[in-house]
Amino acid sequence: MDQLDFYNDLKFCHHCDQYVRYLMSMEHSYCVACGQKVRLFSENDWTAFNEAMANKRPKGGRPRKKREAESA
Ligand SMILES: [Zn+2]
Repeated sequence: MDQLDFYNDLKFCHHCDQYVRYLMSMEHSYCVACGQKVRLFSENDWTAFNEAMANKRPKGGRPRKKREAESA
């Protein structure tokens, strides 16, 4: 087993608010710490990714996603 490779493979957990190790299931991945679904990217990275994708689509303007409140 190569541990370095294992640690390289992180995904973003919104619950933990950081990149975490995860468990893979059929379609989704889950945080090893809290069990929540994890994403490939953080919110910011995900937004950037979606914007990049949106740019390739003939969809008119690209609406700027408003930043949500940091914390209530
Ligand atoms: Zn988590």
